[in-house]
Amino acid sequence: MIKVRNLKKQFGNVLVLNDINLDIEKGEVVAIIGPSGSGKSTLLRCLNLLEEPNGGTIEINDVKLDTLNYKSRDAYQLRQQTAMVFQHYNLFKNKTALQNVIEALIVSKKMKKENAIQIGEELLKRVGLEKQAKQYPITLSGGQQQRVSIARALAVKPHAILFDEPTSALDPELVNEVLQVIRQLADQDTTMVIVTHEMQFAKEVADKVIFMADGKIIEQGTPEQVIDHSENPRTQRFLRQLV
Ligand code: ATP
Ligand code: MG
Repeated sequence: MIKVRNLKKQFGNVLVLNDINLDIEKGEVVAIIGPSGSGKSTLLRCLNLLEEPNGGTIEINDVKLDTLNYKSRDAYQLRQQTAMVFQHYNLFKNKTALQNVIEALIVSKKMKKENAIQIGEELLKRVGLEKQAKQYPITLSGGQQQRVSIARALAVKPHAILFDEPTSALDPELVNEVLQVIRQLADQDTTMVIVTHEMQFAKEVADKVIFMADGKIIEQGTPEQVIDHSENPRTQRFLRQLV
């Protein structure tokens, strides 16, 4: 369960997140859509504390952080609850696919190397890359690199995975192999928050769609409510200019 109350983030005097309130159930898949600059990435980065919020509370899986009473222990525990998948994969270039997947297990979770390797190999298999385990990122396609980064996110068994436009850096013919992996995770009740421009995909995979603009959640609901039948003029304007 993810529960966000009155979350605020400012860069200088610009309020980028303006009182965000959000509830995500375990197993729910949430798609975040909205125009460029509306604060989608900043919201994900605040959930993972890659950015420090300027107000509000974040609770994930019973770990609660009051950002105005910031305790580094709460922050550390909160960070453990989620894993991020970035647009540009952010893999370690000097490590193989397998080494990328098991890095956190060995370094943070202090797992024995042979156990970590076994888990890493299983995860690579799950994303269809068992044959690529020993390859370095530079020798993998964008779609393969993104699948490695999904396996890496799964390795730490997070409460939720946060995806920031996971397919927007990919050549069109590679998009589907990554979406297919995310579809499978959705079928297995993985809690996921996905910032995406792929409306078709959002409609298909999301239980809930959130439309953001100007640092605020303008509306949220089922894909049918928000993408197909929104009555909000701001949402309608955004969806119209996509086609
Ligand atoms: P896009 O669809 O283009 O990825 P977004 O919805 O993810 O956009 P954010 O990246 O969250 O938008 O940015 C929201 C606002 O915050 C923008 O005005 C952006 O310029 C600003 N911003 C983001 N990161 C920083 C930063 N590190 N320093 C200053 N301003 C920032
Ligand atoms: Mg963004």
